[in-house]
Amino acid sequence: MIDIKDLHKSYKTGATSLHVLKGINFSVKEGELVSIMGSSGSGKSTLLNILGMLDEADAGSYHLDNVPIKNLNEKIAAQYRNKFLGFIFQSFNLINYKTALDNVAMPLYYQGVSRGERLDRSMAYLEKVGLAPWAKHLPNELSGGQKQRVAIARALASDPKVLLADEPTGALDTKTSYEVMDLIQGINDEGKTILVVTHEDDIAHMTKRIVNLKDGVIIDDSMVKQVRAKDNV
Ligand code: ATP
Ligand code: MG
Repeated sequence: MIDIKDLHKSYKTGATSLHVLKGINFSVKEGELVSIMGSSGSGKSTLLNILGMLDEADAGSYHLDNVPIKNLNEKIAAQYRNKFLGFIFQSFNLINYKTALDNVAMPLYYQGVSRGERLDRSMAYLEKVGLAPWAKHLPNELSGGQKQRVAIARALASDPKVLLADEPTGALDTKTSYEVMDLIQGINDEGKTILVVTHEDDIAHMTKRIVNLKDGVIIDDSMVKQVRAKDNV
């Protein structure tokens, strides 16, 4: 599903250049639930942004569902992003003046899905994350965990091949974090490929495989026995 080889990325600011990813190799198969761990500044978000086609590597190759991702014009990149990828962020990134339902429906609008189908699909995904009764509420009327559920419904509504989550529990208390991880585990149980960036060990152990990043290189990549989040709630 994801295949990257010898990926490099530097950030240039003025005369200085910071080499952030220094030859990353890894593959993710369909149906995996993988966490990317590492301390602050190790390059996790940089890697996830490249995987999410929000940024491009300087060198190396990236194949997503066997499609080479390189030098795409913005229109094609946007089409691939819509088709392949769903995003979840630490800060939820909901639109504050739109209801939960409209937040979920928004990407479908840009994909040209008809209004009736947008609303039906969005409602179905809000139901899936347990938030149907809150469909007409604005984000500021929801708790952090509820906001993240809306964001997860929004990411799923386009039926992406891969879900990319950058610190999805970073803004949540422990109990709510585990509830969100329980939802993520359930979505993975149904077959969705998911990558979770986290710096929390307990969250990483709720995935099935931990990739450890340090100073821009993978120092460990191991399968782990998955801890079920609901056992901890
Ligand atoms: P955190 O756990 O704090 O989110 P991270 O592992 O996600 O950290 P990155 O955000 O990938 O780390 O950043 C890696 C390094 O690259 C850091 O030193 C950061 O300051 C630098 N960096 C990130 N984005 C940029 C940018 N757009 N321009 C310049 N430097 C950047
Ligand atoms: Mg980060």
